Amino acid sequence: MKRLSFLLLLLLPLVSEAKEAVVASPDGKLIVTINDNDGHITYAASLNGKKMLLPSALGFVANFGDFTQGLSIVGTSASRVDKSYEMRQVKQSKMHYVASKLAVEVENARQQKMTIEFSVSDHDLAFRYLIPRQKNDNPKCAVIEREATAFNLPQGTTTFLTPQCNPMIGWERTKPSYEEGYRTDAAMTDRSFYGQGYTFPCLFRLPSPASGTSRTKPNRTSQKASAKSPQSETDGWILISETGVSSQYCGSHLSDYDPRRGYVIAYPMPGENNGFGSASPAISLPGSTPWRTVTVGESLKPIVETTIAYDLVEPLYEPSQQYACGRYTWSWLIWQDNSVNWDDQVSFIDLASAMGYEFCLVDGWWDKNIGRERMGKLSEYAREKGVALMLWYNSNGAENDAPQTPRDCMNTSIARDREMAWLKSIGVKGIKVDFFGGDKQETMKLYEDILCDANRYGIQCIFHGCTLPRGWERMYPNYVSSEAVLASENVYFNEDAARREPFDLTMHPFCRNAVGTMDWGGVIMNRFMSRDNKSRHTRKTTNVFEMASGITNQAAIQCVAMQPNNLGELTQAELDFLRRMPSTWDETRFIDGYPGRYVVLARRHGADWYVAGLNGTAEPLTISVSMPMFKAGEAVTLLSDVADRKDKATMSTVKSAPKLDKLGRLKVTLQPGGGMIVHK
Ligand code: CA
Repeated sequence: MKRLSFLLLLLLPLVSEAKEAVVASPDGKLIVTINDNDGHITYAASLNGKKMLLPSALGFVANFGDFTQGLSIVGTSASRVDKSYEMRQVKQSKMHYVASKLAVEVENARQQKMTIEFSVSDHDLAFRYLIPRQKNDNPKCAVIEREATAFNLPQGTTTFLTPQCNPMIGWERTKPSYEEGYRTDAAMTDRSFYGQGYTFPCLFRLPSPASGTSRTKPNRTSQKASAKSPQSETDGWILISETGVSSQYCGSHLSDYDPRRGYVIAYPMPGENNGFGSASPAISLPGSTPWRTVTVGESLKPIVETTIAYDLVEPLYEPSQQYACGRYTWSWLIWQDNSVNWDDQVSFIDLASAMGYEFCLVDGWWDKNIGRERMGKLSEYAREKGVALMLWYNSNGAENDAPQTPRDCMNTSIARDREMAWLKSIGVKGIKVDFFGGDKQETMKLYEDILCDANRYGIQCIFHGCTLPRGWERMYPNYVSSEAVLASENVYFNEDAARREPFDLTMHPFCRNAVGTMDWGGVIMNRFMSRDNKSRHTRKTTNVFEMASGITNQAAIQCVAMQPNNLGELTQAELDFLRRMPSTWDETRFIDGYPGRYVVLARRHGADWYVAGLNGTAEPLTISVSMPMFKAGEAVTLLSDVADRKDKATMSTVKSAPKLDKLGRLKVTLQPGGGMIVHK
């Protein structure tokens, strides 16, 4: 590491000359170059000699000083990180993070100082600003008014993004809540839908040298059986996000594309959270900004498998107990508000018990329709059946008009203390809190306060109508998952969303779910999106697709939104799989896929491997799946679709026991909206 400092010194001899610092990943392939040309700090990145990020701005404007211009690099110090840790509730259980660190000390024209800290592992580049107190030990606090932080991607890069929406729009003025759709294979120059930029994580595909700056494949509306887009066509994927956002900062997103600067870090909109709370964050000094992360790969493998959201953060408190993972039933998805009554909830507790599931989630209005006193009895009934209850809450407060109750139980510490003591007294193990007010620091504080208080009462938390979790699985030990996705409820609400489900669920493993646990809200087994399972629109996916999504979607407490009637409708093979389906993983491997077209993932639970595939396209897709986790030539259990699904109505599952070929591969045809599951 001394070599880096030496290199810097060589480049430092003349006062006004630009200085450059370099940090390379442990394998030497990912190289980040930082310089201070013309008083602006920029960084650029290359992977195996291929430009991934063009020179991109760094810096910020604080209320005590401007760190966007008149800057110079005044020193560097290099070090190395090698840390191992374990997690119970994400894509992998044993983590090992090895990275080269470089602290780049920067001074502005007024001799004010800050440090840009880089942490570069083989496939992840991360950085943050460390802000000290200045001369005379002041200021001791700062408002960061804006950041210059940018991500400038090469010309011809295509995008896989979901837009940020305007504040206080949508149902009962509850947005933004990360519930917008994705567009794939789009041009950087396309304006975002609302003109408010894009929410994290943001996925990009770099152009291959052969294709130059021309755009590649059109988007999903015209995709065909050539769902397969050979990886050799491309040589760069980039996933941009952030981690370590606690009550000490706001959640950020990316601006619209600016041809001169690329994408720039944007703070929440002033109108979020009913206009209450500042859009800019305030921090105590010395302090730091969250880590911004850039995951890079020559294939999609490092993108899908990244653990950078967890590698850079630490637990913020100790768990008060060991928290359980598992599966939950949920009446609301198909039976809706009317199902929040005693009898229907008993039938979903019975369903959870029959399936061997650990939890049942009771949705909104339970305080009115069942009543607090009887909730104690319902929880007791569940406990006798070996099932723990989780209860729904409105986050309000004053942030929007969401009417469901209980309201005003989670927005102050006094209310939470009373409520959570009662929850503990009746044996409730989790809460799902819905309808948050956006990304301001004010709202980040509410998430943290709920989590910290709930831990004292042994309660785990799921968030809906909410922001992206940013390292929270590691930071908050009783945090479970977040919606932060245009989720399964839309499959119920409208037929267009049902048609889009295969596209959505082949998008998320590459993006949303790659950096944070995702509560999609359920494996759906009803044929029709109705309680009688005869009326309204049908589901557009096969049964295997839905079951495989329970593997490809990652959440440590996984929703299985099957209905009591499904017990008598599904085949034994389907019920057997749904009963044994794990929700926690020791290892995750990307095998094949393309965002929004298809995906094949392998996940290991203990000694058991599950290889799950989804076809997001409108045509059958025949793939040869390489499965090195099984022995070549041995027989495996395969759940697949019925061969011909041209009428799009067949949802049935075929169970077979094919043998892998001599190279450990299996040829499988995934039907449109269909899938596959292989296990032993
Ligand atoms: Ca929602």
